Parts: sequence; C-alpha cells; structure tokens
Amino acid sequence: MSSARFGATRGCYTRCSRKSQKAREIPVQRDAPTDLAELSLADLEAWIVARGLPRFRARQIFAWVWKRGATSYDEMSDLGRHLRATLAAELPFTTPAIARQDLSEDGTRKLVLAFADRRQIECVYIPDTPSQTFCVSTQVGCAMGCAFCLTGKMGLVRHLTAGEIAAQVRVLARVTGLLDSAFNIVLMGMGEPLHNYDATMKALALLNDPHGLALPPKRVTLSTVGLVPMLDKLAAEPLMPNLAVSLHATTQEQRMAIVPPSGKYGLEAIIDACRRFPLAKRSRITFEYVMLDGVNDTVADARRLVRLLDGIKAKVNLIPLNAAPGIPFDRPSDSRVDAFARVLAERGMTVSVRRSRGRDIRAACGQLIVEGGRAKSAAQALAAAL
Ligand code: SF4
Repeated sequence: MSSARFGATRGCYTRCSRKSQKAREIPVQRDAPTDLAELSLADLEAWIVARGLPRFRARQIFAWVWKRGATSYDEMSDLGRHLRATLAAELPFTTPAIARQDLSEDGTRKLVLAFADRRQIECVYIPDTPSQTFCVSTQVGCAMGCAFCLTGKMGLVRHLTAGEIAAQVRVLARVTGLLDSAFNIVLMGMGEPLHNYDATMKALALLNDPHGLALPPKRVTLSTVGLVPMLDKLAAEPLMPNLAVSLHATTQEQRMAIVPPSGKYGLEAIIDACRRFPLAKRSRITFEYVMLDGVNDTVADARRLVRLLDGIKAKVNLIPLNAAPGIPFDRPSDSRVDAFARVLAERGMTVSVRRSRGRDIRAACGQLIVEGGRAKSAAQALAAAL
C-alpha cells in the first residue's frame, strides 16, 4: 500500500481520462485474472485442492487476507517459502494502494484508494458514532446523478468488483488498527450499491465469512435511491443488511429534480417496495432526507413526509446539505431544520439530524469525488431552477 505508486489523485485521474470515457460507455466490471482477494473460501479451497495442496491451506490464506489484513503473500509467515512463491506466481493478490489520506479535526479519516487500473475511489473511517464506522464505495463515480452530490457529478466510470468493495474494509481496518474490533460498515460512499448488485452481495458474503472478518449483516447498512426490482431482490437475501432509502423529496416532481432515477421508479413504487420489505423485530428502515434550503425543507414537506411514511417502521435521518462548490443548493438554517424535525417528532416519528463528520476534508455525505468529474447534469440544472 504505497502512495508513491499511483501519484496524486488529480494527476492520475487526468491521465486516465480517455480510458474513463470508454468505460462510461460500457460501465461493466472489467475483466481481470482471478485474484485471491476476489475468492470466497469455498473458491479458494477448490483452487488449492485442484493443485494438490492440503485443503487447510485455504483457511490459513483466507484468514491472512480477511482476518489479519495481509497485503502480500510475503506476510503469510506460516506458509513455506516455496508455497508462497508458487502462490505469487499463479494467483495474483492485489490490495488497492492508498493514494492519499486526509484526517479531519473530528477524527474522521478519508482514504483515496487506487486500483490496479488506476481508477480511484474514496472510503471513510468515522470514529465514535458511538460505534466505529467505515463508509465504503461500490462504484467508481455513480450513474444516479443526484443533484446535491459531488459523486453524481462524475457519472459512472465503472463498477467495483466484490474484492474491491471488500478490500476497502480490510484496508480501513488495518490502517485504523480495528482488525480485531467490532465495527459497522455503511454502503454510502461513491456509487449506488443496488446498481452493482451482484458484486455488492458477494462482497458482503466475503466480509461475513467466519474464517475472516465475520461481519454480521446487522452491522451493515446499505443505502439506496430505491431501484425497485433490486429492492425486492434484496428482500430475499439470506445476508440482508439494514436498509436506508435516500428519499430526499415528498412529491414525485420534486424527487425527479433531485434524484433523477425517480422517473423510472416513482415515489409511490419505492414506498410500496419499502412496505413489503421484510424487517426483523425491532428493525426499521432509515429514510435519509438531504435538506436543501428552500427546495424540500418546508413544514408542508415535513407533513407530506409523515403521510408518505404512514404505517412503515421508519426512522428519518435529516441531513442538512453539505454545501460544496458546484452544488447548486444551500444548507438550510438550523431553525428550518429544527422546525422540520419538530413536525415529524410531534407526529410520533423517530427522527435524527445528522451531524456530518469530516466536512473539512470533504468526507461528509455527498462530498466524495475524485477530481476530474464531468459538468453539471440536466437534472442538476433543473434542480437549480426550482
Ligand atoms: S447520492 Fe449516492 S446515489 Fe446519488 S449520485 Fe451520490 S453516490 Fe450516487
């Protein structure tokens, strides 16, 4: 994990701009040779046994990667030198390089990770929430184009593989010294996890394996704009994470301006999918609501939100906008946020106002971007005119 390998964030991305354009046209997972970091334990056992090696070696190697945070075969000290050389020759093992690290005054730490093809993403460690939390990306950029979000300005460059999604957790856990501690992960970094469904689910399975990090689904929260068919698919998953729906609006017209995919999956369809989503006892769906000054932050909006969520086991997380250059909205005043929250609370809803962490290093919600994104989308222009 060396920052020197890929250079500074901005320069690297600029040099790759032609490749990025091509990838945007066909935003599918890149072809790559099998990599140790992509293999489930069962796949690794099959690979080991097929080479005439004892099956237990697979568990040893898997634990080195996912429990002990190794980044090369050289660190696997209980494997013989000959075996390590054989593995290195036949099964690549890659870990994204840390291209940059920023530490916020509040302890939040943002990492820019560079993959073998030089694409970059950001992931974030948020301490003491009161838990330790890792915010993880699922795509390079994002196709959803939410009008308030810097990542949306990049467009989709490519999906991450399962190993690349899960690798963010092992890198963050190693850097923060939390490999042996309990932590949560939130799939709220760059990208829409349900747009990269299979890789996201495979990553959760890799992280859940008891021979590795053993991360239980209850410690994972998946945040989505609400891609309805994928929400229904998620509802049948054995490893079902907690669900957070990025709602941000209370009318279809308003939502289409803020969250462009709403044209395909309307507000009512998303709410219906939430109503049929199976919830464990005592669990709730979190509805995230980014508050944009003068756009969706009125008392009338709050009342509509109460009606919309009627009958759903819900909690509402209000997120006053993290204003940033290029984002055509302002942060509402504290008094507007308080008035909105009061309407919800008075009607018996569970509501919280998110205190964004890492704003000084652009690690807060909606602020993740790797430099070089494209210009304002049509939806952003429309939203700006509201
Ligand atoms: S808010 Fe999430 S879904 Fe919307 S553009 Fe940003 S990363 Fe994508």
